[in-house]
Formats: sequence, C-alpha cells, structure tokens
Amino acid sequence: MTLVAPPTPPSPPSSGVRAEHIYPTLTPAQLARIATHGRRRRVEQGEVLVQAGEPTTRIFVVGAGRIDVIRPSAADEVVVSFGPGMFTGEASVLTGRHGLAHIRAGADSEVIEVGRDALLTLIQNDAELSDILMRAFILRRVELIARGVSDVVVLGSTHCQGTLRIREFLTRNGHPYTVVDLDRDPSVQDLLDRFQIQPADIPVVICRGALVLRNPKNQEIADCLGFNDAIDRTHLRDLVIVGAGLAGLAAAVYGASEGLDVLMLESTAPGGQAGASSRIENYLGFPTGISGQDLAARATSQATKFGAELMIGHDAKRLTCERKPYAIELDGTSRVPARTVIIATGAEYRRLSLANLAQFEGAGVYYAATFMEAQLCGGEEVVVVGGGNSAGQAAVFLAQTTKRVHMLVRGDGLADTMSRYLIRRIEDHPGIVLHTRTEIVGLEGERHLERVRWRDNAGREETNDIRHVFTMTGALPSTGWLQGCVALDARGFIKTGPDLSPEELAAAHWPLARPPHLLETSLPGVFAVGDVRSGSFKRAASAVGEGSIAIATVHQVLHE
Ligand SMILES: Cc1cc2nc3c(=O)[nH]c(=O)nc-3n(C[C@H](O)[C@H](O)[C@H](O)COP(=O)(O)OP(=O)(O)OC[C@H]3O[C@@H](n4cnc5c(N)ncnc54)[C@H](O)[C@@H]3O)c2cc1C
Repeated sequence: MTLVAPPTPPSPPSSGVRAEHIYPTLTPAQLARIATHGRRRRVEQGEVLVQAGEPTTRIFVVGAGRIDVIRPSAADEVVVSFGPGMFTGEASVLTGRHGLAHIRAGADSEVIEVGRDALLTLIQNDAELSDILMRAFILRRVELIARGVSDVVVLGSTHCQGTLRIREFLTRNGHPYTVVDLDRDPSVQDLLDRFQIQPADIPVVICRGALVLRNPKNQEIADCLGFNDAIDRTHLRDLVIVGAGLAGLAAAVYGASEGLDVLMLESTAPGGQAGASSRIENYLGFPTGISGQDLAARATSQATKFGAELMIGHDAKRLTCERKPYAIELDGTSRVPARTVIIATGAEYRRLSLANLAQFEGAGVYYAATFMEAQLCGGEEVVVVGGGNSAGQAAVFLAQTTKRVHMLVRGDGLADTMSRYLIRRIEDHPGIVLHTRTEIVGLEGERHLERVRWRDNAGREETNDIRHVFTMTGALPSTGWLQGCVALDARGFIKTGPDLSPEELAAAHWPLARPPHLLETSLPGVFAVGDVRSGSFKRAASAVGEGSIAIATVHQVLHE
C-alpha cells in the first residue's frame, strides 16, 4: 500500500473523503502566515526528521523538495509523500502522543518546522489555517486507522471479554491496532511460542513492536503507548476535570477556550456513557442523530485544540481536600495539584449480569426509554426490567406504542418501590403484563437481540421472541473515590449549590461568607456537573450544559 501525494497525486483515501482535504496544498499567502510561527531549514535527502515512536512535537511544511512518511514495520514503505505547500502531522500532534511513522526527506528540501506550542497558537488565532490543519489532522488519523498503520497488535479471541475491553479502549481512544484472532489464525501459534505466551495470558498486546503485555490493564496500555508522556503531573493548573464524558469535555472546551490552564483525567476513554450510544438523536443541531463516539471525538479535538490536556487510562483514586491547592491522587505515587476541580465522573447504569450483554447493548438492550427507543420497537413486544419509578414510567410510556410490555421484577410486587399512581396505571393497562419474582437469564441473537429467556423463583423458564429489553434498574454514581470530601445525597450523588442545606454546609465546615455557587459542592472551588450531580437531568445536552456553565463560576472562584 503506497499513498503518494503530489508531485505524484495521492491514491484515493479509503474513507472516500476528498484527497484535497486530507493532503491540502497551502497557498503562498497561507505559507507566509505559517512561516511566521516556525523556522525555515534545509534538509538533505535521506535525513530522518522524526522517528516513529517519538512524541509528536512539531510539523514540517514543505517549501521546496519532498518529505516522505514511512511505515516503520515494512521495509521503507512510503505511506505518503508531501510536495511544496503541503505539511506533515496528524491528530497526535494535538495531544503530544507518539507518532506512528518515520518522517524523512525524500529529496534535498526546504521546510518550515513548526513546534507544537506555536502550532496551537496558530490554530487558535488563524481561523482559515485552523480549519485546514484540524480537518487534515483528524482525517489523516481516520486514514491511518482504516489502513491499519499501527504499532499495536492485539492477540485475543472475539468471544473474550478482555479482548473486547482492550479493543474498545484502543478504538475509543482513536489508536489504530491490528487484531490476530486466536480462534482463526493458524500462524498464531508461532507468535505465541516466540513470546512464551500461555493461554492464561490472553489477551496479549504487543505494543510498539516489542513490549509484550499479558492481559494488560488500560493504564498499562496507555503508559506503553505514551498517551500521557507529554503531561506534566506536577504543574499546578487552574482547573483539573475528573472524567471526560460529555460534561467533562464541555467544561474543558469552555475552560481552555477562555484561557484557563486545564487538565482532564479519564480512566478509560473520552465520551463516557455517550460513547456507548450508537446514535443520539435528541442532541441540539444533529437532526439525523450523531453517534456518541463521533460527538466525543469532535469534542476531544476541540478541547485539545484550545490547549486542554487529557490524561487517559488513569483513575482518580482520591481527592486531597484537607488543604489548598487541592490534589487528585492517581495511584500510590502520583498527585495532580489543582486550584479548582470539576467532578464529572458520571454514573454507571446497573447492568444485567449476563455474559453476552455487551453484544446487545444498543442492539436490543437499552438504558433509556425515550421517543427514540419507542420508535425502534413500535408494534413489537418489549421487556422492561426493574421495579422503580423509572421502570414504571418506561412501561407506561412504551405501552402506548408497543404490542405488549412485559415488566420483570425480582420482588413480590411493585408496592415497596414504585409510586402509587404508576402502580395503578400499570395495573389498569391491558398492554402491560407484570412478572413478579422473575429475572432474565439469557439473551440470544446474532447482530441484534432476537430472544429473551427469563426464570421465576419456582425455577420455571420461558423463552420469548422479544427483540427489545429496557433495563431500568438505576444508575450508580462514580463517587466512591471522594471518600467524604463533599456532601452526597442518600443515593451517593453529589449535592451542589442551593440543594445544600445549612446543616450540610455546617457539617462540611463551609468556610466562606457566600453560599456555594450553582454547581459548587460543599467544598469551595470544587464543582460537580452532569450525571454525577444530585438532581441532574440524565441527558447528553444537560451534561454539556452543566459542564459549560460551571466555567463561569470557576473564573469567579479563581478571582476570589
Ligand atoms: C446506552 C446509553 C444511551 C444513551 N442515549 C442517550 C440519548 O440518546 N440521549 C441523551 O440525551 N442521553 C442519552 N444517554 C445519557 C447520556 O449519555 C448521559 O446523560 C451523559 O453522557 C452523561 O455524561 P457525563 O459526562 O455526566 O457522565 P459519563 O458519561 O458517565 O462520563 C463520566 C466519565 O468519567 C469517567 N470516570 C468515572 N470515574 C472516574 C475516575 N475515578 N477517574 C477518572 N475518570 C473517571 C468515566 O470513565 C466516564 O468517561 C444515554 C446513556 C447510555 C448509557
């Protein structure tokens, strides 16, 4: 596979996107503007400008000659060549992650070398060049992924949860990888023997061509790939955001774009719950819907473009709240200091404990019953799991448009867990069948859920051709790591602003004459936004709204 850009025109990109967007040629006026941000230098044919695996700290704009991008694994395979007016670089330059290819002079050339900081300044101040550069960087990363230019090999089985986790981690962090399916590929045994890999070590990740990680944690993969190498953990920042779901990402975009020094800490990948949503249709401005991953990827590029940093694969383990500046402990050795903190760690929906659940999430298993989901199952039979008010509301709502709603509850009835008015509606509705002391024990299907098996406490099992299951068994807030630093409600969600009673503020030793701001917790300068916040509306748009609003008060607190 060789992609050669002008002087020889590039072969068509696999994603079908127009080549001039991926490999644009800058006009003389644009070149003159970019030149003021870099330094001109001459390079000789064969000179290596960047080695694969080095942190991407600069780009090269070609003034004259030719610069080649070389795939490191194959023998000097030219992935793409850049002629006069073209530039190197892809999304890793925004994050300072390691590059995937060598960059080498294909001829005696003149280049303008632009460092990362100067590039970020240029992107923030020159709207026209910002469009051209950002679009090219993002599309090039998509191309790398589509063409399998990667420094990671995952050896695993498609039926293995660990393999799925690692693939999800790499995919959702936009890192290309190659999969060797142990169930199918006959050459695998050689590989396994070469690295002395035992069956218990599966899945295995071969990282950057050499390091072999056996069933690694996300953090080990992030460290091996150098996702966080460019981040200074000791630097005291204006704002540290814990959690890079939609709420955290929105706070990062607004904070960084308004001049704050921002770091996000994220245990898995940007996007949070939204990353699990195949299509969000109620988000303003996207009438045909947008996938959660797409939304998160755009927001991440936007945040990093404004200079926000993102640390991936590290859990916040504890908030040091006894003294200022606050600090977030990541592991036994690392503490990230912060003048202000936004907690955006969201919530995790309670999930059915079924081995193949993930296969059907978004393909028959849902965690919300809105108009959108109702449309997907109109006229069919559905199952609603749960005995609380959210399950009751879902059952009544879905009964309007579906053939039948089977409500499955573990308890003897609904009286202990649901409001009386909902119980009455459920009892009165001919389309709702209540199955007490019953739980789901099996999900079956290929690409979409096709059958559901449930069992009552007498051991009677039945299997029904039902394609839609709504699990409404509540969400658990990700607040365990806060260990008493901020006031929580009875269900563990964080209380903020006017929801904090005088008694709660007194118990928390609130030290200021003013009351907490709208999204401020019982700890001054620490905010909570999105699903983790008590009383929040658990939706994408409201998470984004809260993340954005919090920035206004962060500014006020920083000036106090
Ligand atoms: C399957 C599904 C479909 C949905 N569909 C829709 C829809 O169509 N429309 C709609 O409006 N809403 C939808 N929602 C709800 C919506 O996605 C959420 O309300 C919203 O994304 C919440 O964003 P958040 O940033 O507050 O929290 P989250 O998305 O939960 O993000 C929290 C982030 O914090 C990270 N984190 C947690 N703990 C730590 C820690 N200790 N250290 C570091 N990081 C941590 C997590 O990894 C996560 O990335 C859906 C939810 C799900 C699950």
